Amino acid sequence: MNCSRCARKAVIYLPYMSQHLCKEHFIKVYEKRLKLELTKRGINKKTKVNVKEDSFLENAIVKHYLKKYYYKMSNEENSILLDASNIECSLKDYLKAFITGQAYENKNVLSRFYARENELYAELEGITYKRKKNCVNTEMEGYIMQMLEDIEKNQPGAKFKLLSSFEKIRAANYSSS
Ligand SMILES: [Zn+2]
Repeated sequence: MNCSRCARKAVIYLPYMSQHLCKEHFIKVYEKRLKLELTKRGINKKTKVNVKEDSFLENAIVKHYLKKYYYKMSNEENSILLDASNIECSLKDYLKAFITGQAYENKNVLSRFYARENELYAELEGITYKRKKNCVNTEMEGYIMQMLEDIEKNQPGAKFKLLSSFEKIRAANYSSS
């Protein structure tokens, strides 16, 4: 399968974009989306930022990106501390919050990225890490995760649509209170 944007060989299919992407275009798209996530959080190259424990794949990715594009990394107390996992972890947290009636604030910088996208980006960029985030700690969380996988399998791209819907619900709740 060739890339939807050029003649090169595709390395991944992104169902929510309905596009096959080659290595170069995948990295380009991934980084553009990551930049957008940082901008949404008010982070630019003048902001002092730091990343939580970078032995995790997801945090190592964010740190790699910040360094690659010369963001202002700082250990000072007033710097913004970023944390990241993947779309699966954020969806699980949203669903759990809805089921239990608890509040959930999404602080995950990579909440719009599938775990497999994070893994591929790290591989292509040569990012080293010790472990991946595991956000399943209870039986219910395991059940929710399995349900998400089943939905995605049946309806590719569903995870992305679900996350967008949850964010809209949350925004509506904030503006009405
Ligand atoms: Zn391409």
